[in-house]
Amino acid sequence: MTRAAEARIKLSALQSNLQRVKSLAPQSRVMAIIKANGYGHGMLRVAHSLVSADAFGVACLEEALSLRDAGVTQPILLLEGFYDVPQLELISRHELAIVVHQAFQVDMLEKTPIPNPVHVWLKIDTGMHRLGFAPRQVQQVYQRLQTCRNVARPLRLMSHFAESDDRSADITRSQFDSFNDTVAEFQGERSIANSAAIIAFPQSHVDWVRPGIMLYGISPFTDTTGKDEGLQTVMTLTSRLIALNYFKKGDRIGYGGVWTCPEDMPVGVIAIGYGDGYPRGVSSDTPVLINGQRLPIVGRVSMDMITVDLRNMPDARAGDIVTLWGDGLPVEEIARRAGTIPYELVCRVTQRVRFTEC
Ligand SMILES: *Cc1c(COP(=O)(O)O)cnc(C)c1O
Repeated sequence: MTRAAEARIKLSALQSNLQRVKSLAPQSRVMAIIKANGYGHGMLRVAHSLVSADAFGVACLEEALSLRDAGVTQPILLLEGFYDVPQLELISRHELAIVVHQAFQVDMLEKTPIPNPVHVWLKIDTGMHRLGFAPRQVQQVYQRLQTCRNVARPLRLMSHFAESDDRSADITRSQFDSFNDTVAEFQGERSIANSAAIIAFPQSHVDWVRPGIMLYGISPFTDTTGKDEGLQTVMTLTSRLIALNYFKKGDRIGYGGVWTCPEDMPVGVIAIGYGDGYPRGVSSDTPVLINGQRLPIVGRVSMDMITVDLRNMPDARAGDIVTLWGDGLPVEEIARRAGTIPYELVCRVTQRVRFTEC
């Protein structure tokens, strides 16, 4: 017997979401962002299913190497670059592209003998203040990279938005202006748009767009769902009812006894918990879906189980399938209930959940 908890990944929805990106940004090439195990969806299955992406973006060398091991031949960009010489050697050997965002990386590129020149995206900090060179440093870094024999040409130029998920944030426009001013005098393809900018800031698409969350059918905004943005749900997380119990008015349910039965009532137990990645922080009343109907969870989320108020479903049975999020129940809504963002929920589904494809 396998564990009841299952994450079903709909590959046709992934492909449809990539098409949605292409129809929003028809002039741009697409770097599909598949870091963090494809936002928790399984990086290799996502890469194999997005064959028409022009490139992939990942966070670290291990992710890139496992793509190469699996036979992925598209360009792969390491979004955080590298931090030591052995990494640089592997990057060169496996023909990976890197983001260069620190002077020490330029030093290493200049000093290290490597087998093949490496493709470089020069990253500019236009206001995110995480990775990248300040605009005033770019001229000098560009010149150094341009003359470094370990760097493949042409160079490429990128930045990243800090608040593009807020459609009214002024900083998005000023980051874009700063990016354009900084790169104006240089040759090279440009990229700045993440999912939110792909949807809400078409001017920023330029040569390459870098969609992450929207590929997985999830809205980058807090006030819409993926469906509202023309996207299809990719991950549906389900489990099963494994017990039905009848309690008396006044009985308290689960750890801490934080929920008290307001009347005599049936309570179901679902085989999923925070050990599977279901957020412990959700508010009581967070819905699950059983036989297409929303029912509220009650009491605390435990490691392996949650409890559900079955008063509105007297005919529920052990073995019934329960949807925690996905088709019919947007993950955006569960994230809001948990005080987090859907990115975090899909990323942290744990290994003991059975992943299947459809
Ligand atoms: C993660 C990431 C993206 C994708 O962002 P989404 O909001 O998921 O679309 C794009 N660019 C960089 C540099 C990233 O780190």
